Amino acid sequence: MRQRANAPTRQPVVITIDGPAGVGKSTAAKQLASHLGLIYLDTGATYRALAYAACQAGVDPRVDVKRLTTLARRLPLELLPQPSGVVQVRLNGLDITKAIRTETMSEAAAHLSRHPQVRRIMVQRQRAWAHRRGVVAEGRDTGSVVFPRAHYKFFLDAEPRVRARRRQRELFQLSGQRPSLQRIQRQLHFRDGVDRTRSIGALVKPRGAVAVNTSHLTARQVLHAILHYIPESRPPSTVHRPPLQTQKRKIRRFSQQERRHYIRR
Ligand code: C5P
Repeated sequence: MRQRANAPTRQPVVITIDGPAGVGKSTAAKQLASHLGLIYLDTGATYRALAYAACQAGVDPRVDVKRLTTLARRLPLELLPQPSGVVQVRLNGLDITKAIRTETMSEAAAHLSRHPQVRRIMVQRQRAWAHRRGVVAEGRDTGSVVFPRAHYKFFLDAEPRVRARRRQRELFQLSGQRPSLQRIQRQLHFRDGVDRTRSIGALVKPRGAVAVNTSHLTARQVLHAILHYIPESRPPSTVHRPPLQTQKRKIRRFSQQERRHYIRR
């Protein structure tokens, strides 16, 4: 039986954070999960791991749908949270955490995630990871497709130049290489195009999501903005879903100026 939207529930809490690359989703989701004692699910890492497996097996991520779906179904993937907060990505026991972060893997993941048949399998696997556990999931379609009934949904966005600079910093930390901003902007533009126009699981602001513009916010401020919408007084991995009125009161506690600048419903 469907529960009323504002009825109290003891289901594990599900929080989704969606948005394009370079808006600070991963940092926010990791920090939020650690703050609330929830599991962090990086759905992008699952598509990247599939891209890695496809490249290893000589499967073309653009067209070889049949082999991609077979790979996706059998993908021996583990996501292992480390005490440092990093989630180790293992494929068949091999640590591929860094290897999946290259530009080549970003592009391959964007190509293969276009195929509805591949997405259907990956979405099932993502749901299985979160089964019966409180989770903070981040990606492109976590609030719209993977967990449409999530308790809290957020959509982060930022100006293209800011996103490119963040991505540049991330690549430098990972590989010591610093591709030009123009090159990164071109790549982000390509990925945005693919992500926003595919037939299922397209990047959209999910219905009911709180939109946060992170262009001029620090990671700490983004976390702070998100936490404003989540009542603190509850045990870590199960939430007493607040009546709608309580949520509204929380929202009103934002200063008018902050709301105008960064946050949109
Ligand atoms: O989030 P990240 O940039 O690591 O994701 C890599 C790629 O995987 C994205 O560009 C997107 O094409 C795909 N992806 C997706 N759906 C998600 C998460 C990622 O299609 N939920």
